[in-house]
Amino acid sequence: MTVVIGWLYGATMNIYGDRGNIIALTQRAKWRGIDTETVTIGIGDPLPPRVDIYFFGGGQDQEQIAVSRDLQGAKGERIKADIEAGAAALTVCGGYQLFGHEYRPHDAEPLPGISVFDAISVAGSERFIGNVVIDSEWGELVGFENHSGLTHLGTGLAPLGKVRVGRGNNGKDGQEGARYRNALGCYLHGSVLPKNPRLTDWLLAAGIEHAIGEPVELAPLDDRIEAAAHASAVERAVRTR
Ligand code: GLN
Repeated sequence: MTVVIGWLYGATMNIYGDRGNIIALTQRAKWRGIDTETVTIGIGDPLPPRVDIYFFGGGQDQEQIAVSRDLQGAKGERIKADIEAGAAALTVCGGYQLFGHEYRPHDAEPLPGISVFDAISVAGSERFIGNVVIDSEWGELVGFENHSGLTHLGTGLAPLGKVRVGRGNNGKDGQEGARYRNALGCYLHGSVLPKNPRLTDWLLAAGIEHAIGEPVELAPLDDRIEAAAHASAVERAVRTR
């Protein structure tokens, strides 16, 4: 069995080290003897026949314009159908915004998303830059945010977690990110997965279940280094808040 990772717009939507999330997913699979195949899906590229985990990183407004256009129609509909069928997804910042209904930049027409998330994002006047710590169902998560977009979740959409340090979705409602089925959205760059191994393993397990059709229990790994990196990032976030 091979877990297929669909890296959406890896060449253009890949800022602030977001490719580290692909490395974390593939390495934690490899340490367990699980095969993965990462397929980069660019503008104009077809989707592979099966995608078990989507990753969609961050990018500036300019990149989002072309990507938004490419996602409209059959491509976005297929991604949405995959999420409904249980595929996993991690979307970060600009990618997160385009998994919602739309992102409204400062000086461009609103960019339509694919409505996986019942959410709308609007560029704000302030740029949120800094370390973020949130409390979530995967425990404490730590990352780094750099966005002017303010995301507001629809009433039925769960956030990824509650902000403890940082600004999160919009700096007002104390929420960060979103979760719909196995699709996660967040503003956590960093990259987020290497310092949050529980989240990485949850995505990996969801992707494997999508690939083989039954739930799996992943063997534990020696996460002392990940835990030390996590603790150091949380300490820095609290100290510099
Ligand atoms: N253009 C979006 C914003 O600034 C996303 C930026 C990013 O992906 N870091 O909110």
